[in-house]
This record gives sequence, structure tokens and C-alpha cells, in this order.
Amino acid sequence: MASVTALREAAELALEEAVNLFPLPYVPILIWKGYRVTAGMAYYRSGAIGLSTRVLQTPEAVRETLLHEYAHLLAVHRHGKKAANHGEFWRQAMRDLGQAPQVRHSYEVERNVPRQQVTYVCIKCGKPFVRARRLPKRQRYIHRNCGGDLRLQSIQPIERKS
Ligand SMILES: [Zn+2]
Ligand SMILES: [Zn+2]
Repeated sequence: MASVTALREAAELALEEAVNLFPLPYVPILIWKGYRVTAGMAYYRSGAIGLSTRVLQTPEAVRETLLHEYAHLLAVHRHGKKAANHGEFWRQAMRDLGQAPQVRHSYEVERNVPRQQVTYVCIKCGKPFVRARRLPKRQRYIHRNCGGDLRLQSIQPIERKS
């Protein structure tokens, strides 16, 4: 996982890049927040870009999100409030910034990854161990009580009621 410093640097660099290409009358303030669902937010009134400390885990995702949000600020600066969506004005701003004008859901979807139930079994005594995710591979896991090795038995999606 990228360090917090690397992610913040990626944000600063992308902002600088956008500002150099198409300056706004202000330099947007970057704010990092714990959004769970969205990767980023554009705050039109305060001229800020919010980035998610939870959703954004790679410098590439930070960069894409920053440029996406900057394009929102740019579109609204150029055309007013009617441009505060993913319509033609935003798409034009995205192209100006060298970005594909698509709404990316790649990180927003992270939350919707189906939950799993991963079951390991002790090969010596048969005791099952249920976890929410796989244990890192290439390591040996031992049942502390009996010394038996744990073996992956099954990975099952958990149905979520909506
Ligand atoms: Zn957007
Ligand atoms: Zn055991």
C-alpha cells in the first residue's frame, strides 16, 4: 500500500499540473476526508477538492480523482452552476486536462465487493476457522492449540440483503 505521504504528493502534483494547464481564479484547497463511498468531492463554493483517505489507496487513483474533481471546478467556473454534473461541460474540462471523460467507478465500487466468508480448517483436529478474507499466502498458519496446519477449505460469498 502506498504511504500517506506518497498519496498526498500525488495529489499536490496533479493539482499543480491542472493549475498549469487551466488555471482557475483561485488555487483549490485540498482536503482529505474519511469518505467511505466516494473517492472525491468538488466543493464549488469554497473552491476545495475533497479526497478520500479511505477509498484512495494508490497515487494513480489519487491523480485520477483529483483531475476528475478539478474538472468539476473548471466546468462550473466556465459555465456556472448548470455545469455541476457529468455533462458536456465537465467532459470538455476532462478532455482539456488530458483525461478520458468518463465517470470512473473503479474505486467507488470497492465498497461493493461482495463479502466473503473464508474457511480454514486445521488438518490435525478439524477445527474450522472462519475469516472475512484470505490469509496472506506463502506463510504457514498453525492451530495454536494442537499444532496442526491450517488449510484453506472454502471461500463463499456472503449474500447481502439490500
Ligand atoms: Zn464527478
Ligand atoms: Zn487443531
